Formats: sequence, C-alpha cells, structure tokens
Amino acid sequence: MLNTENYEFWFVTGSQSLYGEETLRSVEKDAKEIVAKLNASHQLPYPIVFKLVATTADNITKVMKEVNYNDNVAGVITWMHTFSPAKNWIRGTKLLQKPLLHLATQFLNKIPYDTIDFDYMNLNQSAHGDREYAFINARLRKNNKIISGYWGDGDVQKAMAKWMDVAVAYNESFKIKVVTFADKMRNVAVTDGDKIEAQIKFGWTVDYWGVGDLVAEVNAVSDAAIDTKYAELQKEYDFVKGQNTPEKFEHNVKYQIREYFGLKKFMDDHGYTAFTTNFEDLVGLEQLPGLAAQLLMAEGYGFAGEGDWKTAALDRLLKIMAHNEKTVFMEDYTLDLRQGHEAILGSHMLEVDPSIASDKPRVEVHPLDIGDKDDPARLVFTGMQGDAVDVTMADYGDEFKLMSYDVQGNKPESDTPHLPVAKQLWTPKQGLRDGAVGWLTLGGGHHTVLSFTIDSEQLQDLSNLFDLTYVNIK
Ligand code: MN
Repeated sequence: MLNTENYEFWFVTGSQSLYGEETLRSVEKDAKEIVAKLNASHQLPYPIVFKLVATTADNITKVMKEVNYNDNVAGVITWMHTFSPAKNWIRGTKLLQKPLLHLATQFLNKIPYDTIDFDYMNLNQSAHGDREYAFINARLRKNNKIISGYWGDGDVQKAMAKWMDVAVAYNESFKIKVVTFADKMRNVAVTDGDKIEAQIKFGWTVDYWGVGDLVAEVNAVSDAAIDTKYAELQKEYDFVKGQNTPEKFEHNVKYQIREYFGLKKFMDDHGYTAFTTNFEDLVGLEQLPGLAAQLLMAEGYGFAGEGDWKTAALDRLLKIMAHNEKTVFMEDYTLDLRQGHEAILGSHMLEVDPSIASDKPRVEVHPLDIGDKDDPARLVFTGMQGDAVDVTMADYGDEFKLMSYDVQGNKPESDTPHLPVAKQLWTPKQGLRDGAVGWLTLGGGHHTVLSFTIDSEQLQDLSNLFDLTYVNIK
C-alpha cells in the first residue's frame, strides 16, 4: 500500500568551457564513476542518474525544467568538480521546484602531494567551486540541503540516503488524500485547522464523507473474504477469547475484518491514503474501527483518531519517509511522575499501529466504555525500546508549526490487566519536566507521530522544503 512512484535522482556536475575539452571529458568520467559507485554501494534507497556536465546557463536551465516535469524525478544532486560560474545557475535554480542537494565533495579524498600540478588544479576545484556555487543558492534563499565530506565514506552516503527519503516524502506529500468519516470530535481545538492552507502548503487533500457511505462498503464485504482473513490473522496473532463466549469473540473480530475491507476498498476506490474516524459518529457501524484501523496502519495508510486529519496526513507522510518502518500514530495517555521513573505512557483507545510491537500481538475483545457501541476487537501488544522522535503539528491560525523532541522509547514496567490496549512508554531526552514545558509552551497536541526510524535532522530538512516553521524542542 505504501506504493509510491519509482523515484530516481538526477546528478548534475558543474563546470565551464574555459578548461577545454580534455578537462571536461575527465569531469564527466569522474562524475559518472561517483554515480556508479554510489549506486553500487547499496546504501541509497533510490538510484542516481548522471545527467550532464553543466557548463552554460542554457543547459542548466534546460535540465532543471526537465526535473520539474518528470514525475519520477524526486530531486537534483549537484557537485562542483571544477569552478562553475554561479551566474549560470541563477535561472535554472530559481525555476527548480524539487529538492536540491549540494554534494560538497571532492573526487579524491586526499591531497596528492607528490604529483599535484596545475593540470590537477584545473580539474579539481571543488574547494573553491563549492563556495562559488553555494553563494548563489544562499543568495537565492534556496534553503537547499548541503552534505559535505568524501562521497565514498559511509557517513556521507548515510546522510544522502536520509535526504533522499525526505525528498521523496516531499514529492509524495502533494498526493496525500485524507478521508474523514465524520467531522472532528466536538469542541476539540488542537486537532482542528485550516484545510485550505494545508493543501496550499503541503498538498494535502482532506475530504469529508458521511459515515453512511462507508457503511455501504462495510456491509457489502463478502463472508468468504472475511473467513479467509480471519484464518490468516489466527496464524499471525494470538487470539485470546477472555470472558467472551466463542460466538461473540468470533463475531466481533470478524466485524472488524469487515470494517477493514470496507475501509480499504473505499480508500483505494477513491484514491485516499489516510483516514480518520470519530467515536461520536458511528451511525450504522457496530463497532469503532480498532483492529481494522491497526491492520490498515500496518500496511502504510495514515490514520488518526477523532477526526484529526492533520495527524493522519502527517502519519502517512512520515511513514513514506520511514519506508513504513516503526513510525506510528500515538497519543500521550498517562504519566509516571515519580523521580527516576519519569515517563509518558502512550496509547490510544484502540488504534495503536502494530509496527512497533516487541511481542506477538493478541487479538482481544473488550468493552470501550465510550461511543455506546459493541465491544471492539483490537490488537494488544507491548511497544519497543530505542531512540525515537515524537512529532506533532499545530495550526496557529497564521501559520502551521511542526515540533518534536527526541525521546527514549521503553517498554512499560509491568502489564496493565485492566487496560487492554497496546502501549508504548517514552521519556523526552531532556527529561520529562523540561520536555513537557517545551511541548506545552508551543501548544503541541496530544496526537503525535512517534518514529524509531526518522530523526530531527530529517524533520528540519522536510520543513525547509515546505518553508514550514519547525521547532526541535531541546
Ligand atoms: Mn485521541
């Protein structure tokens, strides 16, 4: 489901005709070697395609226009082997509407003291060529990414890989379509916002559909499809009947599978890649989607509860950046304020993405005590340990603001036998007290995306592309 375009990145090497044909041939040969070796490194998530040695304003402008209209090109990587007069780059750089990485590198990782001469210096001018080129990007306020270091080093390649993931997420953002079944939860402020501005800024389409349109799809799902999926899930998860009769357990789990297929078909038929539900508006549905939402999130659909379309879109966006690994919708649920134990227990009523399960999820059926509907089936599991970021976005009315802090993810200290939901514990790296004050001061909401895959540098790079205010709470 996480299917995106078959993206590639174009590689453009800067130079000028002053050096003569022989030098330009060497520039091209070296640039092609860098591209080939980067592709062969298997460190990059997307291929790089060498395009040209750019020597004139005309050929630079032409290639940037081609980048703009080729949907499968996610961005441009530039490298200055020689000195490339940057006035040549002004028009093309201004026209470029996709992510730009200035790779500030050098063909050799050393100074060849014994052999270096003026021929070598004619060809290897990255040290000052990069500065000429970077000036014009800074002057144009391009806000592009710069990665500096030897192209063959693992850390440089890792940085390039992270930027590529950001660039692809940026491209895909303009295709995100969120369906909200019901409006937002009544009276709630932090999850509301300006949908038109979100579409202008991030490309998100957010559509309301009456829950009745979903009910029709849910009711149309065949019993055979439900039985097959039920058998599949029995292999994947532990089914724990608990206090329920066998008939009730099976019926309620199967109803969630019915909702899963109904939601999936509705979204796929209409091109939606994220959705929200609202327990206040379930007319015609037997249960609030729990297991159904969890299975869809695991497949890569974005989700948030209570009509929170901002977080649903953000969930989808960051899942794309993270290749759908360990990146989940989350909610600040309850606190441990004891000294030495300070932590936030994160969960939701039902809808916790099993991508962060550290144990085998159990399918359970329990009352919800809210929404006045039948007992929903849900996956219950324990979250994971590790470094993560917790992210949310607020709408201030005059701007959106993205914020996050680095957190340490942990497993809860013990089971919660009377709270049958999946759970994830975390503590902000600066400590719960300072983290909470930073978060609350900015008005950050309780719905977040928690990711063990992406980091704050990527959030900053993504925000730069959107010209979005980002605060990394320290
Ligand atoms: Mn919630």
